[in-house]
Amino acid sequence: MKFFDKTLRIQTNKSIEILNITSQISQLVQESEIEKGTTIVYSPHTTTALIINENEPGLVKDIEGAIKDLIPWGKIYAHNAIDNNAASHIVSSFLGNSLNLIISKGNLELGTWQSIFFVELDGSRPRKVLVRIVGE
Ligand code: ZN
Repeated sequence: MKFFDKTLRIQTNKSIEILNITSQISQLVQESEIEKGTTIVYSPHTTTALIINENEPGLVKDIEGAIKDLIPWGKIYAHNAIDNNAASHIVSSFLGNSLNLIISKGNLELGTWQSIFFVELDGSRPRKVLVRIVGE
């Protein structure tokens, strides 16, 4: 059993932004030389998320729009008394901050229409994504 750990560094540029990180994750799977295993993709932040969906520009815009509509961003939240970003934390907790992926024959098992996206919910900021690949 092999373990391969890497940290991706991402600079986001908008308050809400969906970034396709599929090629970076695939690159790490190649680097790991692990043929059969799993990948954990994890964001160690409380105002970001990770999702898998289709990389169609209209849909990515629609998901950004849905995130804005998901909860009332202008509401008065208790957390805003110390840090004006409660809505970002709430959406992050709804979407989730880790993904588990399967590696077979040295490649990610993604469906034809699936891509991996990092979701910024309180940008712009420097962010990290931790990747652990386990297998043989
Ligand atoms: Zn906060």
